[in-house]
Amino acid sequence: MNGEALTRIGGEYADRAREQRFRADRLPETLRHARILFTLSAVLNALFLISDWRFAGTGHFWVAVPARGVVIAIALVCLALIGRCRSFAAAERVMLGWMWINGAAVGLLVTSQSDIAFFVVMMLPAVYWLAVPGSFAAVAASGIGCSAMMLAGYLLPDPNHPTAIGFVMAMVMFNAMLWIVQRRYNRLLRIEALSNERLRQSRQALETVFMASPVPMIVNSRRTGRMIYVNDLARRFFGEDEAALRMKTLQHLFVSEHDREKVVRTVEATGSVHSVELQVRDPKGRIRDMLVSTVGVDVGDEPAWMTGVIDITRMKAVEANLARLASTDDLTGLANRSRFFSAADAAVAVAHEEGGALGVMMIDLDHFKRVNDNHGHDAGDRALKAIGALLAAHLPVDAVTARLGGEEFAVLMPGFSGGRLAAAAESLRAAVESCDASDIAAGVHFSCSIGLSELRAGEPSVEAALSRADRALYAAKRAGRNCVRSAEPAGLAGNLA
Ligand code: GH3
Ligand code: MG
Ligand code: MG
Repeated sequence: MNGEALTRIGGEYADRAREQRFRADRLPETLRHARILFTLSAVLNALFLISDWRFAGTGHFWVAVPARGVVIAIALVCLALIGRCRSFAAAERVMLGWMWINGAAVGLLVTSQSDIAFFVVMMLPAVYWLAVPGSFAAVAASGIGCSAMMLAGYLLPDPNHPTAIGFVMAMVMFNAMLWIVQRRYNRLLRIEALSNERLRQSRQALETVFMASPVPMIVNSRRTGRMIYVNDLARRFFGEDEAALRMKTLQHLFVSEHDREKVVRTVEATGSVHSVELQVRDPKGRIRDMLVSTVGVDVGDEPAWMTGVIDITRMKAVEANLARLASTDDLTGLANRSRFFSAADAAVAVAHEEGGALGVMMIDLDHFKRVNDNHGHDAGDRALKAIGALLAAHLPVDAVTARLGGEEFAVLMPGFSGGRLAAAAESLRAAVESCDASDIAAGVHFSCSIGLSELRAGEPSVEAALSRADRALYAAKRAGRNCVRSAEPAGLAGNLA
């Protein structure tokens, strides 16, 4: 990605602006690090000052003690200065001052060629390369400069030292190794910073998507059930502020324990549920139909569920209304042909299973054409509505009354047969005959003819019974109308007209 390339030599960002941002971000850590370094240098060198007393009486004593004094003083001065630094560049100037003045003074100290001096010759370049939190250029230049000063201090008093060339070679190799280590360290730090930044960006992107989602979304803990995140739409849906929602668990919302267990079981077995229809209680206690999808996610160390919910209450109501309209006769509100036949299938199955009777009526209004001709089509419509209401009110609640078409009605009478069925039909006929139609049109009067039949053993559907009832209806018409006829041999209806 742009600006993310690292330099080949030092392992820093090639992009200067990015490198400066990186250094600025880490400034507090850099200052803390430098303070520790200066403090350690002052304390350790104060201790070394005591050991320098072993040179008392020798010429080196007068080199060692002032040089040690400079080392301690520069560490203390830098400690004071670093506290006032507000930028990386200022901090680096202090570090550079410390490295070079300290290096020159230690170069004098190591002229003693003692064992400890040999140790310091090797150690100080390593400290500059690895422990000073400066830029690569500063630590590399100071590390190499320090190595030269250490070699000069250690070897110059005795230039014919038998291992002088070996020392120089070792120091070169040591610096090369320190360079490699410093470069790798720089690279790793920046790669880590880059991946942290990418992680932060993708988290931020996810959070934006979550918050701006057009679907109410909730993230809740799997262990406690408590809500961890709620987006704006969810907050609006639940009508509560975030603090109140966080105190709640998802369990509060499910209407049925069975629904809750079903979701929990599926999520735990498969890691997700998709578009399940559930009922959820909103804060006002109203039951809403929701489409719910849930997926398992980890929020830090917390195993959680991310749930999206869509309120389909209105859609379900529209769906139910459409289903009702599709099965209802517009004019009378009775069942239509399609609902009648599906109810008939169910009633036939029950009748066969339980060995009960199923009576069928076909009803046709007498001379209905005259109502239209004499009072208009609107009056005819109002009359059909009134007769529909009369049928529904007069028949038993488990009867299914349908308008099959025109002014022709069919009724399923579960449990009715023989004399009971005929009596019910006769009572209905009488009700129609005596119905007061004066509010529909003056002088209008209704009657109907009814044909009866019953489901017979072995009949798989109501079709045959309906045909027989239809034939009985025509028999009633032929018999002069306003009467009931039955297709059943044992039927009493023929005598009842
Ligand atoms: P019958 O006694 O022989 O049954 O005589 P009818 O006049 O009732 O004759 P039929 O059943 O054949 O005629 C049905 C009439 O019902 C025809 C039409 O004028 C009327 N009709 C059918 N559907 C509607 C409707 O939806 N609204 C109105 N107003 N009239 C209808
Ligand atoms: Mg008719
Ligand atoms: Mg008719």
